[in-house]
Amino acid sequence: MVKDQHVLDAMRHIIDPDLGKDIVSLGFIKDLKVRGGDVSFTVELTTPACPVKEQFKTDCERAVRAVPGVSSVSVTMSAMQAKKQPGLGINTLHKVHTVLAVSSCKGGVGKSTIAAQLARQMQREGLRVGLLDTDIYGPSVPTLFNLRQPQLMMRNNLLMPIVVDGLKLMSVGFVLGDSPAVMRGPMVSGYVQQILHQTDWGDLDYLVIDMPPGTGDIQLTLVQQAALDGAIIVTTPHSLSLVDVARGILMFERVNVPVLGIVENMSYFVCDNCSKKHYLFGQSAQALKDRFGLETLAEFPMIDNLSDLSSKDAGAGLEPLRQLADRLHRAVGKRRAQKETLPVVTAAGTHIRVQWPDGSVALLNNRDVRGACQCASCVEEFSGKQILDPASISASIQPTAIGNLGNYAVSIAWNDGHSSGIFTWDRLKEIEKGVRL
Ligand code: ADP
Repeated sequence: MVKDQHVLDAMRHIIDPDLGKDIVSLGFIKDLKVRGGDVSFTVELTTPACPVKEQFKTDCERAVRAVPGVSSVSVTMSAMQAKKQPGLGINTLHKVHTVLAVSSCKGGVGKSTIAAQLARQMQREGLRVGLLDTDIYGPSVPTLFNLRQPQLMMRNNLLMPIVVDGLKLMSVGFVLGDSPAVMRGPMVSGYVQQILHQTDWGDLDYLVIDMPPGTGDIQLTLVQQAALDGAIIVTTPHSLSLVDVARGILMFERVNVPVLGIVENMSYFVCDNCSKKHYLFGQSAQALKDRFGLETLAEFPMIDNLSDLSSKDAGAGLEPLRQLADRLHRAVGKRRAQKETLPVVTAAGTHIRVQWPDGSVALLNNRDVRGACQCASCVEEFSGKQILDPASISASIQPTAIGNLGNYAVSIAWNDGHSSGIFTWDRLKEIEKGVRL
């Protein structure tokens, strides 16, 4: 007779490539029913956009069919419900599985273009997608999609998004029209609140929010109210300022929103007569990884017409776009599933105490840690030369606050007034090993 255990054991070799564990231990198998030789169950994935969904289904069917006594197998694929914290975020988003922000430190880096292309790409993958353009300084959705002052409709006191090829769009530009920026002034923030709170998104797999550039109060309010699942930061190599990126990361982390990675736009061009990538402004991915532990999710070249989204096929076949969506699906799924064990960093008198996930403890001298700060006022941004003179660090230096930044670093504020340092786990390991930084 077939038992539940036989069925589960048969699937224990199926490993989630992102989480590195088998799908049975991860608790993905739900509603298992065994009636004689008929077996049915649901595989509940972390995200409806799981890139290996079909592969899992085939593997599960094959594995269970091979169990002696099994005559039929019925597998249903589903995704974990987004667990929005009650009281946080906005009601109209309660049926939105994942909310992502696309942000940038400066204007003109292609943030809106990437946000819109990402939404189109996810939609092409069969997902239900919305794009919310909150860029009050220059709403782009009307231009990108060639929609001039579309007629907005209300239903049950809610604004209905404009639907283009199944993609749901809302923009401050639909409300503001062509009114000159100077007239918008104080009205603007009211409009942003209105479209945030009153757009009827319905069921969505992803809502992509095109943020206003920068890290001011408007941005922070948006991040808090939209209960984001993650953010990406778009930069260009020529506008890259590590100070600005740090400010962006801190803004998101302050309200517990993970920065999933960086998109580097206009990073190279490929000329007509050769296939070589020309990086005119150098590559910055390594600097971002070293300083903040951030991955580059995709690099977009200079491309003609990237900002014409009027056709459903705009951007189709563009490899960096496919890669960006794929990495985001994985990053979102991974964060949802993983309750990662993180190092615990605390102040311990003259030392910083780091308890690593394996239980081992490192005691790092306060002066060594303070001296290893890599922020822009301690280390020259471009040459990497140390500005901070280690001899100037007081013997009584102590942390005044230590806070986790996502799952990759801590920020430490010191009693000498310095508070912009970010220490990745790797950096703390290097300090522990006494590696010269
Ligand atoms: P932001 O939202 O950051 O202000 P936009 O998306 O409006 O930036 O883009 C700014 C300008 O750069 C637009 O003219 C857009 O067409 C252009 N652009 C964006 N990305 C690229 C790219 N990869 N190649 C060429 N031009 C681009």
